[in-house]
Amino acid sequence: TPLSLTGFGGLMWYRPLTLQHALDLKAKYPDAKLIVGNSEVGIEMRLKRLQYRVLVSVTHVPELNVLNVKDDGLEIGAAVRLSDLLSVLRKVVTERDVHETSSCRALIEQLKWFAGTQIRNAASIGGNICTASPISDLNPLWMAVGANFRIIDSKGNSRTTLAENFFLGYRKVDLASSEILLSVFLPWNKRFEYVKEFKQSHRRDDDIAIVNAGLRIHLQETSEIWVVADASIAYGGVAPCSLSAKKTKDFLIGKVWDQNLLQDALKVLQNDIILKEDAPGGMVEFRKSLTLSFFFKFFLWVSHQLD
Ligand code: FAD
Repeated sequence: TPLSLTGFGGLMWYRPLTLQHALDLKAKYPDAKLIVGNSEVGIEMRLKRLQYRVLVSVTHVPELNVLNVKDDGLEIGAAVRLSDLLSVLRKVVTERDVHETSSCRALIEQLKWFAGTQIRNAASIGGNICTASPISDLNPLWMAVGANFRIIDSKGNSRTTLAENFFLGYRKVDLASSEILLSVFLPWNKRFEYVKEFKQSHRRDDDIAIVNAGLRIHLQETSEIWVVADASIAYGGVAPCSLSAKKTKDFLIGKVWDQNLLQDALKVLQNDIILKEDAPGGMVEFRKSLTLSFFFKFFLWVSHQLD
């Protein structure tokens, strides 16, 4: 049944069972906070003492919980829990052609190091995306894999945007107060398209990243030479939000994939990701070197795939 509870200080908590009811609540209370796992909002309210008047728990809205395997990719509802996404990705990689699931394998690896089991069982992909943490482990990957976000407003109108264009600034995303994230579309990979995830943190298990990344390259073979047809390089932990290394991407496209490219790309990348001496988070030299070493590792890994 739909629930509506009133709490201390006039707090209102709703649990709609339909998308329409959730959207109606958003129309009535534009500042309503959607919650799924409450792993971000709970901390904001208890530890940061932020006050929200209306909470809408969307865990039971069917449209937000879809996990549809389609011909061109995977449709993932915004309220899907990380553990459920992980199970479907694991199934998909056994069922589809191996070249189609490079992004899936990168997501699986990154999810393994995302929090612990309890958080992964409760936390949603939409909650992670909309929080737009600068060290989100998944957002650089959504950008790199070319994911599309479907957004719906309280009148039921929907639009899509590339993950790459969604993160605007520190915890700021391209969502109006009348809009919610409906789903994420993860496209399958093309032949000779390779995706890899990276995360460096202090501890291996259950720790937040110092720097993380999602890297993708699409290569084409012309007379036994591999040429870069497309690329995407996104980092977390180096800016107020997940950041695409656009100059490096532009540099790579059309280039021959060889040792020279590696050396030149590292130089471009060094000037593409700028961390000021006093950047929040500190460890500036370390973080700069991580951005380069992730690319270096990616280069070696991709080259090995081509052998
Ligand atoms: P909630 O707290 O329920 O919601 C978060 C925000 O998203 C809210 O502002 C909410 O309004 C908004 N929102 C949710 N759904 C929608 C929607 N459909 N449309 C619009 N807005 C929406 N993060 C990492 O990246 N890597 C980690 O390793 C990691 N480890 C963690 C460890 C711990 C112990 C904790 C507490 C958190 C950790 N996090 C980590 C952060 C957090 O768990 C994730 O960001 C999580 O995915 C948030 O999901 P949620 O469903 O709990 O979000």
